[in-house]
Amino acid sequence: MKDTYMSSDTNMSSDTSSKKPKKPVLKAVAPFKKPSQAEAEAAVRTLIAWAGDNPNREGLIDTPKRVVNAYKEWFSGYDADPAAVLSRVFEDVSGYDDMVVLRSINVESHCEHHIAPFLGMAHVAYLPTDKVVGISKLAKVVEIFSKRLQTQETMTAQIATTIDDALKPRGTAIMIEAVHECMATRGVKQPNVATITTRFTGEFKTNPVLQERFLNLVQRG
Ligand SMILES: [Zn+2]
Repeated sequence: MKDTYMSSDTNMSSDTSSKKPKKPVLKAVAPFKKPSQAEAEAAVRTLIAWAGDNPNREGLIDTPKRVVNAYKEWFSGYDADPAAVLSRVFEDVSGYDDMVVLRSINVESHCEHHIAPFLGMAHVAYLPTDKVVGISKLAKVVEIFSKRLQTQETMTAQIATTIDDALKPRGTAIMIEAVHECMATRGVKQPNVATITTRFTGEFKTNPVLQERFLNLVQRG
C-alpha cells in the first residue's frame, strides 16, 4: 500500500483502559435553528450565484430543491442513534471467542471542513465476550456516522467507542481508508492519496499479534 498517508489515531485518547472512554457527543455550542426547506433552497441559490452562474436560468431552476433533497440523504445520520442499533444482542455464541471481522463496508461521507465527499471502505472487528450483535448492525453503525459531517479521524474513533460501549467486547479494531475530494480536486490536488485511519482498543491495542491478524485479514480484500 504505497502513496498513503498513515494517520493512526490510536493515541488520540491516552490509554482507554484506565480512563473513561470518550463518548461521541456533540459539544454544546451556540444553539442553531434548523431552517425551513425554502430557506435551505435559498441558500443553495446564493451559492450558485457565488459560483458565478444565474440561479434563474432553466437548467438551474430546480437545482436548489435537488440539492436540499440530496442533503436529506447525505446527512440522514443525524436522525439515527448508533447505540440503539447495537442494543439487540445475542448471547448464545456457542463458545465462539475469536474476532468477528467485517471487511469492506462502503463509506460515503462528507468532511466537516469542506462538505466535500470522501469515499472509501471501513473494516470493523471486535472480540466478543459473551454476546454478539447481528453483523449487519455493525455496517449500519458505520453508515450512521458516515451520514454526518465529521472528519475521518473522529468517525474512526466514534465507531470504536460505540461498539465498546454497547458490546463491552475484549477489544475493537477499526480501519478506514478513503479518498477525500477536498484533497483530490482542490488544495494540494492529490487524487491518488488514500487516507488511512485506525483505532485499536482492548486486546487489539495491547496484543500486536491480534492487530497483525486483523490487518492481514482486511488487506486481503
Ligand atoms: Zn475536507
